[in-house]
Amino acid sequence: MPLYEYISECQDDPDNSCRVCQKGFELRRPVDRPPLEVCPLCRNAVKKVISQVNTPRVAKPFSVTDAKKAGFTVLEKRDEGVFEKQ
Ligand SMILES: [Zn+2]
Repeated sequence: MPLYEYISECQDDPDNSCRVCQKGFELRRPVDRPPLEVCPLCRNAVKKVISQVNTPRVAKPFSVTDAKKAGFTVLEKRDEGVFEKQ
């Protein structure tokens, strides 16, 4: 069962969060359960924290499309004409 970390959507607002979700909390949930949307204690909105520790920095190779979107210049290898006769 994966461990998820949640934190209040309104960390700085004591009226819309409790001291548990203000600091964030961890909860084990089955994968087939929908994501938690409210704090189990105060019933205010929480969001899932993407863990920096357990998530590899590069989860998958950067695709050409992603690179272009990010503003990188992508040098494409062109096979056409490489073996062209003079
Ligand atoms: Zn709470």
